[in-house]
Amino acid sequence: MKRLVILGGGESGVGTALLGKEKGYEVFVSDKGVIKEKYKQVLIHNEIEFEDGQHSEGKILNADLVMKSPGIPDKISIVKQIKKADILVVSEIEFASQYTEATLIGITGSNGKTTTATLTHHILKQELEVGLAGNIGTSFAKQILQDNPPNYVLEISSFQLDDIVRFKPKIAVLMNITPDHLDRYDYVFENYIASKFRIAKNQTQDDYFIYDADDEVITTWLEKHPIQSILVPFSLTKIIENGAYLKRENIKITIDNNQIIMPTANLALEGKHNIKNAMAASTVAHLLKIRKQTIRESLENFQGVEHRLEHVLKINKVQYINDSKATNVNATYYALESMDAPTVWIVGGEDKGNDYQELFQFVNEKVKAVICLGVNNEKLMQSFGSMVDVIVETQFMSEAVKIAYKIAEAGDNVLLSPACASFDLFENYEDRGRQFKEAVRNL
Ligand code: ADP
Repeated sequence: MKRLVILGGGESGVGTALLGKEKGYEVFVSDKGVIKEKYKQVLIHNEIEFEDGQHSEGKILNADLVMKSPGIPDKISIVKQIKKADILVVSEIEFASQYTEATLIGITGSNGKTTTATLTHHILKQELEVGLAGNIGTSFAKQILQDNPPNYVLEISSFQLDDIVRFKPKIAVLMNITPDHLDRYDYVFENYIASKFRIAKNQTQDDYFIYDADDEVITTWLEKHPIQSILVPFSLTKIIENGAYLKRENIKITIDNNQIIMPTANLALEGKHNIKNAMAASTVAHLLKIRKQTIRESLENFQGVEHRLEHVLKINKVQYINDSKATNVNATYYALESMDAPTVWIVGGEDKGNDYQELFQFVNEKVKAVICLGVNNEKLMQSFGSMVDVIVETQFMSEAVKIAYKIAEAGDNVLLSPACASFDLFENYEDRGRQFKEAVRNL
């Protein structure tokens, strides 16, 4: 019996444990932190051995195969030892994908993965049996074990891609690449870019690679590192013959001379970035021969995803918008860009070495007040202090929202788009977004 050791007892770890057991492995799950009670119960119920609070070398270094959860960095001691012992380390998508014949659609990028994956799934599910997995919802491994639909939309982070060997999506989507998570890539941007491009590494001439042709990081890399896949670009600025582009406020997608045209005015989601997300998702749908009418209707009625430019409430004609998931500058760039009214902006948190310069233009144009919400707000105060009339700081969400309420006038927006991680004051970005919404509802 082969021994499968799983590092990390979360959604993907426990899903992999179940699939591994079913496929005849002797499975051991090890987590340095605390395994949640609901997952412990699943492991106990399925008679899968596990430990938490430690990594016992004796039970790990005898593995034939290791599945490492995406949150665990390569640099921790146990991973180093595993690699030194020449044991193969794979990610969940690598392990699980060998047990399904389904058509895989892999979506990656620095921003827009969840939105695009959810939107793609929303369109496809109107006509196909399709699962949504990866960094979202029920783990891919578990879905393969349960109902194994013939298609999957997978949201894939660079960490998942780092540990693939044979994973091969029929359709790969690369939304964009901006510096993020560099701490996991030796602070070398090229390493992070290379990781994102691994999504196409096993693709052949029969597979599709959909990408943002306006993103110079992507296009420059492609010129230097050609790939085998059929290239399907999308663009807001260029004319694209095979792929998607913007023609007079319409999205026009052409695949093998078959065209679909959709007015951007009818899109449910706002902002330029969401036009890109819609382009990518509908290009996938068009490739999979979903009816044009279905694609159009699905784009019109898509409700969006929580914490991404989510419209919370309108109070005294002021629109409150929750964009808590904007944990980097690029995401906030698109949020500010999409603001169509004077905006009171709540920003701040754990700074990941941010360069705020690209936001200056929008702050000058659209932001009437800045509310800094972080443990350390000095950099924000310095960056934006001279640009707006009002800049204040606080460490409490309820206070931030109350201040915004006082400043905002009829017709304005109040936008939470932090450009920073949330861990200084909140459990995670979901907690931050929920606190924002609660404070707004309490006004
Ligand atoms: P991810 O899963 O890659 O983190 P999300 O869809 O959760 O992406 O969006 C993260 C943040 O980025 C949100 O603030 C959202 O409004 C913004 N965003 C969404 N799509 C894009 C895009 N195509 N480009 C840049 N920012 C985006």
